[in-house]
Amino acid sequence: MTPDQERIVREIAALRRGTLNFYLYDLAAITAKVEALRATLPRQVHVYYAMKANPHVGIVAHMKRLGVEGIEIASSGEMSGALTAFSGPEIIFTGPGKSPEELHAALQAGMEQIHVESLMEAWRLSRIAGALGRTVKVLVRINPAFHIDEAQTRMGGDSMKFGIDEEQIEQLLPAILQLPHLEVVGFHVFAASGVLDYRLLLKNAELVFELVRRLEARFERSFPVIDLGGGIGVDYLGQGQHFDLAAFGRGLSDLLASEGLADRKLIFELGRFLVGDCGFFVTEILDIKTSRGVKQVVCAGGTNHFRRPAALKINHPVTILHRDGIERPQGVVAVDQEKVYIGGPLCTSADKLALDLYLEHAEIGDLAVFELAGAYGLSMSATPFLSHPLPEEILVHAS
Ligand SMILES: *Cc1c(COP(=O)(O)O)cnc(C)c1O
Repeated sequence: MTPDQERIVREIAALRRGTLNFYLYDLAAITAKVEALRATLPRQVHVYYAMKANPHVGIVAHMKRLGVEGIEIASSGEMSGALTAFSGPEIIFTGPGKSPEELHAALQAGMEQIHVESLMEAWRLSRIAGALGRTVKVLVRINPAFHIDEAQTRMGGDSMKFGIDEEQIEQLLPAILQLPHLEVVGFHVFAASGVLDYRLLLKNAELVFELVRRLEARFERSFPVIDLGGGIGVDYLGQGQHFDLAAFGRGLSDLLASEGLADRKLIFELGRFLVGDCGFFVTEILDIKTSRGVKQVVCAGGTNHFRRPAALKINHPVTILHRDGIERPQGVVAVDQEKVYIGGPLCTSADKLALDLYLEHAEIGDLAVFELAGAYGLSMSATPFLSHPLPEEILVHAS
């Protein structure tokens, strides 16, 4: 965390009474990301915020202020949140298993572009649009035959619930193209999430462009919109690997020119890249004890508030902020230059925030700050489990 961010955490801690357990989101970090994208990506790339990364309406409002093209949602709940800042036409709707009610609500809210993930969904949407007396633009999602091995999460190449397999698209597309109330404007191919090497994402773009070219030749028409999904990673493991946006932007421009696709509208729906590093889960260390030779650090919040490390079996970077004036009895232990387990208050041994994590020093009453917690943090956690109060979510502007 930056010195400004640390100062703000300390100020909040000094002001609050009672046990500390909160999320801090630094909007300045998001601003920096959007500016970097704007400075490096070709002009025909439209950046949407993938809302599932962090649905906080304050973050959604900040995205709108920053002038992102729009927001990508995948449920009616996200739609309600998105509509607090964005208008219907700025929202795109993706995801498998959209219910008829959700499709209906989306059209009524004025959404103009919906991504269909199967023939059934396309048919359903066409019927609903027809009943409302309108036509809707759709992107057809394709589950590509290729994948990116180094991606943190594979979103293509295997048997998937997402989209239509590339091997079946030529056979199924005619039926979708014939649906009376849909206008197929392009394709959506999201093959990988969490990519840190820009060359892999360029390779992915190249494979997507070739696929679109092939379909255009086969169906003798052009499709003006290509959605490349998300995919830019965050360096969770602190390996010093950062996505080279400038090189990616240059490579993408060259690729679009060489493929003859410079006139297309490209969509990137980015989640973790935009908000991952803006967030910190700050939780008070309530206890430290030695168990069978290993220190167990027990915090006020656990996987009920920050499930990501346990779900993905990775340690997020942790900073310990020392606090003075904490009363402790003689005989309690502290952490000193050793590997520890960090957990929360839940009555299950699955409640792990960090495994085998080296800490320089920590004492009871200190704050454990889990970094890179802005994406897939609170909203991906099982908050009702054990019925602890929700952590506060605090939005600041650090610099
Ligand atoms: C989750 C998701 C994203 C965002 O992925 P990130 O890895 O957070 O950038 C984008 N598009 C779709 C369709 C998604 O499901």
